[in-house]
Amino acid sequence: LHYEKAHFEASYGTIAQLPESNMPEVCFVGRSNVGKSSLMNKLFNHKGLAKVSSQPGKTANVNFFEADGVHFVDLPGYGFARVSGAEKQRWADLIWGYFESERSHNLVISLVDIRHDAQKLDLEMLSYLNQSGLPFIVALTKADKIAKTKQAQQRATLARQLGVDPMACVITSSQTGQGMKELKRFIENACL
Ligand code: GDP
Repeated sequence: LHYEKAHFEASYGTIAQLPESNMPEVCFVGRSNVGKSSLMNKLFNHKGLAKVSSQPGKTANVNFFEADGVHFVDLPGYGFARVSGAEKQRWADLIWGYFESERSHNLVISLVDIRHDAQKLDLEMLSYLNQSGLPFIVALTKADKIAKTKQAQQRATLARQLGVDPMACVITSSQTGQGMKELKRFIENACL
């Protein structure tokens, strides 16, 4: 897969707007500020392709990118405190609506900050993914912010808290590129 060929395709404000497609899809989901844009940009080796989506007042959308016949779907970051209840509901509708829509869900990449214990919304997300039947992995982000010697231990802790297999938790850093090869292997196994 030529990740560097990734380009922006379209942005949708409601799930009803998504055009039908049989193309394999890999989506990215996580708390706002977890490092989703940075990870996508690192994967695509293209700074600024995925935009920081967590700015206050910025409208949440589902953004589609395409590379080599694979859709990469950037779901809105959840858990941003300073937005209205109505806007939070819209974000939730986008995320759950995407998961429930009839599409080729090849892989969900659920992002969780490696530095902290699992938070309520992450537990809800993983609980949903565990019972949904959707194929998913967890990308533990910002690994460069903790000591290398602590990483495996923190992965074990988070895997236990989230109820997922530690082998399905990839330790990543957008700063150092750690975990990108492993992430690509998961993506290619899911899509090709
Ligand atoms: P998003 O809201 O999930 O898209 O998060 P961003 O990608 O915009 O990142 C949020 C903040 O975390 C920014 O200040 C990034 O520079 C920082 N960040 C993201 N990934 C990493 C990482 O792997 N290492 C470090 N040290 N900082 C990161």
